[in-house]
Amino acid sequence: MAKLYFKYGAMGCSKTAQALITKFNYEERGMKVLLMKPSVDNRDGATVIKSRIGLTSDAVTVPQTQDLYELYKEKYSDCDVVIVDECQFLTPDQVDELGDIVIDYNIPVLCFGLATDFLTHLFPGSRRLFEIAESISEIKSVCRCGVKATVNARMDDAGNIVYSGEQVVLGGNDRYVAMCRKCWLKKKKEQEAKGLFV
Ligand SMILES: [Zn+2]
Repeated sequence: MAKLYFKYGAMGCSKTAQALITKFNYEERGMKVLLMKPSVDNRDGATVIKSRIGLTSDAVTVPQTQDLYELYKEKYSDCDVVIVDECQFLTPDQVDELGDIVIDYNIPVLCFGLATDFLTHLFPGSRRLFEIAESISEIKSVCRCGVKATVNARMDDAGNIVYSGEQVVLGGNDRYVAMCRKCWLKKKKEQEAKGLFV
């Protein structure tokens, strides 16, 4: 039976590369893949997904207002597999719609993305994936200290970690670094001691 998959990991854990490799593997077996990426600014259309190691692929951008079940039914029902990159930006309803595609069309839907935001809280879409996905797996990455990274720290231009702000910053040039929670909290104390705004 087909499943809804949630493959999550921290920033820089090669999620996008794995999404693109998974697409390639299905295509090699003659299967047609619908690759999509949620758009937080509600633009739709075509986009190119790039991984840091150089893999790229065309993808369909889906606004958060798009019913994904209807989209699949109307335009992409010839696809044998659905792969979503940056799935943390799906709405909970869209996750349910993907789950309905799995059941009604008996095809696998694989979602790659972050579990938590820069303040260690779950994204709403990721929470829904934890609740209903039939398969959940972690793509691991490592903090600079050698321990498993679990926090997606947001950095400002000066290289300081930001400890407040909106969950999603539109058009922001924020940088994110995966760290363990111990290092993240240590850095917070150091910044506070230096009187840096946190
Ligand atoms: Zn660490």
